[in-house]
Amino acid sequence: MDLTTQQLVRYEALFTLLDDIQALDDVQQVAARVATQWKYFANVASWRLVMVGTQGFRVMDGARGQATVSEVPALSAWDAAHWARRLPCSFKTANAPCEPPLPDHLGQPGVVEVRVLPVLRKGACVALLTVAARHAAFTDLDAKFIRLFGNHLVNHIAGIEMRRQAMDLLISKATHDALTGLLNRGTIIERLGSQAALAARTGQPLSVVLADIDHFKHINDVHGHLTGDDALREVAARLQACVRDGDSLGRFGGEEFLFVLYPCGADEALAAAERFRAALADTPFTLPGQPASAAVTISLGTASSTPGDLSTQRLLRMADDALYASKDAGRNRVTASGSVPGGTPAVAVHSAAK
Ligand code: GH3
Ligand code: MG
Ligand code: MG
Repeated sequence: MDLTTQQLVRYEALFTLLDDIQALDDVQQVAARVATQWKYFANVASWRLVMVGTQGFRVMDGARGQATVSEVPALSAWDAAHWARRLPCSFKTANAPCEPPLPDHLGQPGVVEVRVLPVLRKGACVALLTVAARHAAFTDLDAKFIRLFGNHLVNHIAGIEMRRQAMDLLISKATHDALTGLLNRGTIIERLGSQAALAARTGQPLSVVLADIDHFKHINDVHGHLTGDDALREVAARLQACVRDGDSLGRFGGEEFLFVLYPCGADEALAAAERFRAALADTPFTLPGQPASAAVTISLGTASSTPGDLSTQRLLRMADDALYASKDAGRNRVTASGSVPGGTPAVAVHSAAK
């Protein structure tokens, strides 16, 4: 191949890769594509791209046509040194080993040159690219391609990450209650539906617990609505801390909370509800700006599925009836609803408050 044809082939490889990754919205897939294609237009045998991650740094490594993507809390000595220097540089590795030492996959046999390319935005380093050439050092055209493609790669990955974060935020806002941070009503009811479907498949029991803050209007009336909001947040946090892995808690209404417990039978639900009650009643909390601790208590009602009856509406109605029985019996207590198939649920058990 003459020189012009060689260069055309390389341009073609570059444009194809740019096109390919443009269509990808997954960092792992982008890295995998780059790992197989980069060597065709810029003699890049192996590479590392480091970018700021969610909790530390995201490290993408490519070598021998394979790519790995990982999140690390801190940079390796090589990456940290060059991230801090913020200067492009080149090392001829045949003459002397690099200091700090190169990441292993960049120092493979046959590597003759390593180039470092920090990507800066407003003077700060946002990404660090290290590329290694095998057999021959990078040419001027290689260097141009690496700069062009490296910048594009960083922008594309930053775009993927930004869209992912925006989507996560959107989903979180759509599914959570802004005041308490708990699941919102729509989401907890959806969860109840999906757990009921699961219970129908497995035959395991499903329980719900409804909790309502006692005399909450009084807290608002005496201390003000903002203090009421603080109390709601504290109640939510305490209840959330009691929830087992796999169970769910949501804000069902103003000062009402719904727990979905699965797998969980009637006795376990009663014990769990008693734990929720005690989490508030046993340790009074101080409302912000208020001198004395407030006795904030909750009343609860539980209801459990029976084999062949997994109607979520019915479970909610039974729990609500049991909750109101707790209120009628003096508040700060748990009532379990006994299920009477096909009939009005009978309130079965009152667990007395301490
Ligand atoms: P009970 O023991 O019978 O449940 O009495 P209660 O006062 O808790 O019940 P009631 O239904 O009379 O009052 C509920 C109050 O909860 C009234 C409403 O303004 C208040 N509330 C509902 N949502 C919020 C909220 O987001 N913030 C605040 N501060 N108050 C709320
Ligand atoms: Mg109430
Ligand atoms: Mg209420």
